[in-house]
Amino acid sequence: MVRGLVSTPSISCVDAAKDQGNSAVIELLADWLAGTGFQVDVMPLPGVVPKANLIATLGSGPGGLVLSGHTDTVPYDEGKWSHDPFSMTEADSRLYGLGTSDMKSFLALALEASRQLRAGDLKAPLILLATADEETSMAGARALVEHGQPQARHAIIGEPTGLRPIRMHKGILMESIHLQGHSGHSSDPSLGNSALEAMYTVIDTLLSWRSELQKNFRDPFFAVPVPTLNLGHIHGGDNPNRICAECVLHIDLRPLPGMDPQELRGDLRHRVLKCLRDTGIEVRFDALLEGVPAMETPAEAPIVKLVEQLTGHTAEAAAFATEAPYLGKLGMDVVVLGPGDIDQAHQPDEYLALDRLTPMIDILKQLVNTVCIKTEPLI
Ligand SMILES: [Zn+2]
Repeated sequence: MVRGLVSTPSISCVDAAKDQGNSAVIELLADWLAGTGFQVDVMPLPGVVPKANLIATLGSGPGGLVLSGHTDTVPYDEGKWSHDPFSMTEADSRLYGLGTSDMKSFLALALEASRQLRAGDLKAPLILLATADEETSMAGARALVEHGQPQARHAIIGEPTGLRPIRMHKGILMESIHLQGHSGHSSDPSLGNSALEAMYTVIDTLLSWRSELQKNFRDPFFAVPVPTLNLGHIHGGDNPNRICAECVLHIDLRPLPGMDPQELRGDLRHRVLKCLRDTGIEVRFDALLEGVPAMETPAEAPIVKLVEQLTGHTAEAAAFATEAPYLGKLGMDVVVLGPGDIDQAHQPDEYLALDRLTPMIDILKQLVNTVCIKTEPLI
């Protein structure tokens, strides 16, 4: 199944030319699930490229467990791979291929862990969830929230965590700030209005805001215990002898749990507009990434306690964002726990070590057994 998933390309990319959609992977999963007793629902997403979420449910009733993975991968570096990214290669006790670690393999392992189950065995439902567009817009996870599906009490997302549970991560939002002044001969400043000099004021405002945020918000649970704001890209002007008419800055903001991305975006825009008041500079904001909230599942949540017991590791914080906040909005306590390693994700020769497969399947079987079959002490 890992081989099948890796050989079915599903790159999601903000560049439409590289975006492949995920429907072939969804069809493959639906085929494998046919006849297993799972009820399979495909939730198509609006858009030009065919994309969908898949919700496969076994059993019914309150409580229950979601095992979730995203079906898309990031693009790959052409010419940098020593193995074919789209055909799984077994070598050095590893499985090489795009999506082995991040994170198609998890879907195969979740299927493997539940293939013997029958609906009659379960007191609480088991739901396998496969999502679209995690690597770009989180459109799949957003659609789930809009539809109010699936409903369950607990969830595991199999992102690459090296079999160690994660219960917290920061959020992300990315914003483009575009300033429009107007050009003129450099010899006379009154002939133009420099967008580049205006951006200097904007950057000063942003860095002061960052200091303020870092003073007001702090969580020692994270390796970087404060919210971050990175100035990642700037471009303005053309010639030294022309007043710069246009300048654009891209920033990345990583909020801590408790900080609302939409409020932050509002605050950011307000401050930028305020610092440019009466300058004659026009400002346009674009959300490069709408914003993924931070995730925080309480340390005492039953699913956290259970995976800590099963893995032998205390739940930690991750530096990357996931779909967990969206499943959280649907009422689930979420733990991120998967067989891959984040160090191998998003880079050439991505692999999954073979010795991660059986432990992951065992953990999933024990989770299903405790949550869906015994339903004690979790429900
Ligand atoms: Zn991932």
